[in-house]
Amino acid sequence: MKPPAFDYIAADSIAMAVAALAEAGDDAKIIAGGQSLVPMLNFRMLRPSILVDINRIAGLDVIEETSGAIRIGALTRHYQLETSPLISRHLPVLSCAMTHVAHLAIRNRGTIGGSLAHADPAAELPMMALLLDAELRVASASGERTIAARDFFLGALTVDLASDEIITGIVLPKLPLRTGWGFAEVARRHGDFALAAVAATLTVSGGSIEQARIALTGVGPTALRGTEAEGLLIGHALEPDLTHRVVEAVRATIEPETDLHASSDYRRHLAGVLTGRALAAAWRRANESVA
Ligand SMILES: Cc1cc2nc3c(=O)[nH]c(=O)nc-3n(C[C@H](O)[C@H](O)[C@H](O)COP(=O)(O)OP(=O)(O)OC[C@H]3O[C@@H](n4cnc5c(N)ncnc54)[C@H](O)[C@@H]3O)c2cc1C
Repeated sequence: MKPPAFDYIAADSIAMAVAALAEAGDDAKIIAGGQSLVPMLNFRMLRPSILVDINRIAGLDVIEETSGAIRIGALTRHYQLETSPLISRHLPVLSCAMTHVAHLAIRNRGTIGGSLAHADPAAELPMMALLLDAELRVASASGERTIAARDFFLGALTVDLASDEIITGIVLPKLPLRTGWGFAEVARRHGDFALAAVAATLTVSGGSIEQARIALTGVGPTALRGTEAEGLLIGHALEPDLTHRVVEAVRATIEPETDLHASSDYRRHLAGVLTGRALAAAWRRANESVA
């Protein structure tokens, strides 16, 4: 398949990109890595009259440390995230998650901004943005705004982003001291989207859990946080009985769809198993960090 005809603008600044988007109205699409957009054009699921290419905008692909946080430009490629020493030092769960995204050739092109804007229900980056309490920086011709990841994902392939807005960056607070992490995913083949994946962080103090975060993908229209399950963990050590109750709480929270790849029941079962694995790894790493 070939895409329908479109006009093309290669923006060399954010100002130029947002001006082009504002002028085109609903008819324009940003192209970043093209790994999700181009297949959708080729299948004619989208028919924009103009593509605004943001790949030449300087400074949009930086990963930098600020006090207490890591700031990632929207054009940062998945492979950069996977291999960044700053990310592996302060957000190792994100480095690990990136190895599960597609294949290397796709990770060389795909961008964090594109993945968050596309919001595939089984993608890893929306899950990581929720897990790590990310804030997204967004710009348009009328100004800038910041939106928390928890408010950004509205439904399958649907986010709180107007057609004239561009994600410019993502800010992720560094993991606190005494925090361990775990990541567990099942996909049918290496490089496929997840049937289900779970990421967790546990911060421990005095032998018990002070802060717990659990995020899931592949088990609903959007990635989600297991907030109720997180609450069960606070103030306790991770014992088998507690893990069992948390796993059941996660299973009760989610409503996975049945599709060609797996039934709803299988995905619910899997999400529980993966939650147990992610929590066990997070608990082990948290305790190693205080030993
Ligand atoms: C075979 C295959 C397997 C894959 N497997 C996985 C997987 O296992 N896990 C996974 O997470 N992903 C997977 N992907 C998707 C891949 O990660 C994409 O790179 C990513 O989803 C989109 O990033 P992109 O930069 O390519 O965005 P593009 O394709 O360029 O754009 C995607 C959408 O985001 C919009 N957009 C892009 N950048 C911005 C921005 N800065 N601001 C606002 N809107 C923007 C575009 O207008 C478009 O609507 C797979 C893709 C393929 C082709």
